[in-house]
Amino acid sequence: FSLIELIQGMALTLRVMFRRKATVRYPEEKTPLSPRFRGMHALMRDENGEEKCIGCKLCESVCPAKAILIETEEREDGTRRTTRYDIDQSKCIFCGLCEEACPVDAIVEIPMFEYSADGKNDLLFSKEVLLKVGDTYKEEIKEAKDADEPYR
Ligand code: SF4
Ligand code: SF4
Repeated sequence: FSLIELIQGMALTLRVMFRRKATVRYPEEKTPLSPRFRGMHALMRDENGEEKCIGCKLCESVCPAKAILIETEEREDGTRRTTRYDIDQSKCIFCGLCEEACPVDAIVEIPMFEYSADGKNDLLFSKEVLLKVGDTYKEEIKEAKDADEPYR
């Protein structure tokens, strides 16, 4: 190293030291999330509390990671509903195609990414879990959808 290179290096270090930091001290600090953020999945209900999913399996067919497994049956009233709806979050690549494909906005990805599991099996979310997520976060989901309204 020449003296000039040393001075250039020190000058660069000094410049960077006083720049605004690009990182935050997570988890104490967090950056804002886009309303389109694709995190954990949720299954939604309609205004009568009935599950929205009509068991068309479009989400299952479109999923590039084959993370969704659906089984359905026809009810006595002629409507079709799922008897099984699993999403393997360990396979999911959070592409959002399932949400885009759904004709009735039943499956959504919510602005929630802070979850963990002790094992792979704990990342297999059943229909009951997905409906519970939808029930728990329905206000946050509505807020995110409303914020995204001009682009939908
Ligand atoms: Fe499959 Fe993509 Fe939906 Fe994940 S977000 S379940 S990878 S379609
Ligand atoms: Fe069809 Fe939507 Fe249900 Fe998937 S979540 S089976 S796309 S209605």
